[in-house]
Amino acid sequence: MASKYVYFFGGGKAEGKASMKESLGGKGANLAEMTNLGLPVPPGFTISAECCDLFSESGGKWPKGLDKEVEKNLKKLEKAMKRTFGGDKKPLLVSVRSGAAISMPGMMDTVLNLGLNEGSLQAMVEEAGDDRFAWDAYRRLVQMFGDVVMDVPKETFDHAMEGLKEEKGAALDTDLTTDDLKELVKRFKHVYEKHTGEGFPDDPREQLKKAIDAVFGSWNNKRAITYRKINKITGLKGTAVNVQAMVFGNMGAGSGTGVAFTRSPSNGENEFFGEYLMNAQGEDVVAGIRTPLPISTLEQEDPKSYKELMEIRGKLEEHYRDMQDVEFTIQQGTLYMLQTRTGKRTIFAALRAAVEMCEEGLITEEEAVARIPAGELPKLFSPVLDPAEKASAESSGRMIATGLPASPGGATGRVVFTADDAEAWAARGEKVILARTETSPEDVGGMAVAQAILTSRGGMTSHAAVVARGMGVPCVAGAGELLIDYGTKRMRVAGRTIAEGDAVSLDVFEGKVYAGDMNVQPSEIVQVQDGTIATEDSQLFEQYNKLMGWADGLRRLGVRANADTPRDASRAVKMGAEGIGLTRTEHMFFEGDRIVSFRKFILVADTVRALRAQIEDERDGEKRSALERKLADPLQRYNEALNELLPLQRGDFEGIFEVMDGKPVTIRTLDPPLHEFLPQEEKSQQEMAKALWVDVQEVKDVVEKLHELNPMLGLRGCRLGIIYPEVTAVQVRAIIEAAINVQQKGVKVEPEIMIPLVGKAEELKLQRELAEEVIDKVCKEKGVDKKSIDYKIGTMIEIPRAAVTADEVAEYAEFFSFGTNDLTQMGCGFSRDDAGKFLGEYKRVGVYDEDPFEVLDQGGVGKMVEMACRLGREARPGIKLGICGEHGGEPASVKFCHRVGLTYVSCSPYRVPVARLSAAQAVIEEKGAKPKAKGKAKRARGSAKKAAGSKARRKPSRKKKR
Ligand code: ADP
Ligand code: MG
Ligand code: MG
Repeated sequence: MASKYVYFFGGGKAEGKASMKESLGGKGANLAEMTNLGLPVPPGFTISAECCDLFSESGGKWPKGLDKEVEKNLKKLEKAMKRTFGGDKKPLLVSVRSGAAISMPGMMDTVLNLGLNEGSLQAMVEEAGDDRFAWDAYRRLVQMFGDVVMDVPKETFDHAMEGLKEEKGAALDTDLTTDDLKELVKRFKHVYEKHTGEGFPDDPREQLKKAIDAVFGSWNNKRAITYRKINKITGLKGTAVNVQAMVFGNMGAGSGTGVAFTRSPSNGENEFFGEYLMNAQGEDVVAGIRTPLPISTLEQEDPKSYKELMEIRGKLEEHYRDMQDVEFTIQQGTLYMLQTRTGKRTIFAALRAAVEMCEEGLITEEEAVARIPAGELPKLFSPVLDPAEKASAESSGRMIATGLPASPGGATGRVVFTADDAEAWAARGEKVILARTETSPEDVGGMAVAQAILTSRGGMTSHAAVVARGMGVPCVAGAGELLIDYGTKRMRVAGRTIAEGDAVSLDVFEGKVYAGDMNVQPSEIVQVQDGTIATEDSQLFEQYNKLMGWADGLRRLGVRANADTPRDASRAVKMGAEGIGLTRTEHMFFEGDRIVSFRKFILVADTVRALRAQIEDERDGEKRSALERKLADPLQRYNEALNELLPLQRGDFEGIFEVMDGKPVTIRTLDPPLHEFLPQEEKSQQEMAKALWVDVQEVKDVVEKLHELNPMLGLRGCRLGIIYPEVTAVQVRAIIEAAINVQQKGVKVEPEIMIPLVGKAEELKLQRELAEEVIDKVCKEKGVDKKSIDYKIGTMIEIPRAAVTADEVAEYAEFFSFGTNDLTQMGCGFSRDDAGKFLGEYKRVGVYDEDPFEVLDQGGVGKMVEMACRLGREARPGIKLGICGEHGGEPASVKFCHRVGLTYVSCSPYRVPVARLSAAQAVIEEKGAKPKAKGKAKRARGSAKKAAGSKARRKPSRKKKR
């Protein structure tokens, strides 16, 4: 069977449908779907993405039979429109639009008004009775065709345009007269000829063929490739091509064009949200040529189209059951729909829309949960500018401009004016703010590395706004007071000049721009609760909680946090942690005076160990006593130091136990090599010697002695506890004493003592025996029944040897916690500190798709985890299994942990919500089947006053704070 390459849509019927995105692209599939829904879509046809693939493979040839199919569909289109393509009478003009399966805003180029030449132009003039319009369409064709199809530099057209505007004293493109436009076409054609060496093609079919070729070719242009790379889009065949009858938004004052979202893409409010321009075509709205009007004013300007648009808004949401992003054009009072797709949205909007759609009965709780991009949740708690600094900046006149809050957050950095500069500065480690008049797809590389984006032109749907929201980069758009001069790399505003490299700060929640830098604070959930972040939405926190509640109801995987201090622990609880999966005791050693005591210990530890060994081996009684005398002083210092540490550690643990109030707390015994606690620099060594009343040489000797060639694999983890048993002993004592003390206050305590870096069961056996001994002793001293303390002893599985002998290890472990950071280092065989040098390249050439330190390497490291789980369960049914590496807060890895049946994941507090949501999504994915609607009725829809109506329908409790 010959393959079908082309799919027609028009006259209320389409050959394609929404589910055919793979082949028709998102744009084509949805044009078909909208046609079938009976919406007013200009007819046309879609050439499938397979053709793009075949075109690329054959080095630029159309697959066999495609030309015939295109011709056949063109005929059909002419018939549907009762017009002739590029004809001298009733001419048909078309657009050629790209569109792949995944929407890539601004990535591939569209050409409008194809089919125009001197002949069809005259016919257009007669038909429309408006020669200005026809000439405007023609100059756009030459410009777009030149730029997109023939690679004529865009600026050359812009220059010609600016030059003419200046000569004619025209401020806007709409100020140009017909004669001006005729002159412009002449100049454009001249530019075209100069750059291509050929005349502008008159033949409509040649125009069409070249345009289709260009769309196919654009799949592999730099912009498209960069976009796919940044967004990790792989496995697509190419782009489909849509050829569609033109409708004209530039046919005078009664015509216009716009873009709209069925809900706010910025905060999710159930309010029609959009922008339009009268007497404009195509990308005018998004390109920031003129500042567009908010959709609400269309109600006065063209009530009929507005009403129709509102009805379509309802129909689309009802049909797609999600927020849509649409393009429309009004041609002399008649509305046409040109595109619909799932609207990109901020996490704020995603959350609100999902919760509200669920409450409206449009989607189920499971769908709401499934829809939130878990990895983006931390942005809900995204940084904000220090409020005090902001206030002082405002009172001292450093608030220099305001714009639209296009993508939320707070940011500070040095201003740069080109994407290349942004990349160069960022590569040097600078934090930059990219300021542009407007952005274009060429800028995406620079936008991705910027702290924030600032534009002086364009609206909430401008390129800058859309792309920034997608990237999660804060963006203030359309700050009109800024005068940016790329030539001198400066901007002028409010009587100031801000040069490249000067600091600026943005508060995107309010759209404010400040001169100078400010502290950016990581926000905490309490701030959301207080409404500090959600300046507009006091209900944000409520909705967040509701959604997380649904997620918690679904998930089976437990979620804990890694926390080292009572403060971290309390933050973790606020983020929803059900326990602590990792307390790194050594982190406390750097707080306050603890380090002095610990250094005192380190200074003599090795001497004590060496002397003890000698004494044990010594048979000669006299020599033995000599050694014992020699040991006396260091041993005293050794014990003194440990005794100083005991109450400090005990206090830390008491604090954590109290905060955790009965939830399990896993405490890891000392892990890093001792030299990490010693100063390496002369000056600090002197200070240490002074603090400890010793000679600086003694410090230097120890530093020298403890030096390791490969510390990652050196004397660390349980090895330390075996060589210096008192270290483990004092830590276990601190844990148990703290547990007893806190329990006596009536707070339940569930300590889990975790021995790190075990590779062989014997290591754990030794440490376990030691710990049990200490626990017995403490209980006896305190007169406490050992059984009254609900403690566990377990280990980290972070050495491959332990993973593959997990059955043996499990004999001594009541729990395993996978330390996937080390397991990745030792499993993949690259050190975390050095891998940065080649991992980027590895990703590029496809050895690893992701950084295995970020996303768990399921195919390798994951296999060890699976194996250890199986072996561990076989040896000890009911063994508790967790993970405490960074992966515990990464969505794909969390889902993996769910699948292998871990008891819990543990991650940093700010990623706890990510883990909770991902774990719920894992359950939904596991069910596989489509979630069933709970039978709630369809929403009441179709009222003409939807924009305002949505507010009226809102429950009274949801008051808007402002
Ligand atoms: P993108 O993928 O960049 O959004 P589009 O193919 O949607 O590109 O087209 C760019 C612009 O041209 C949009 O504003 C769109 O609405 C407009 N456009 C495309 N085809 C037509 C048409 N047949 N009639 C009128 N406007 C069109
Ligand atoms: Mg485009
Ligand atoms: Mg579009």
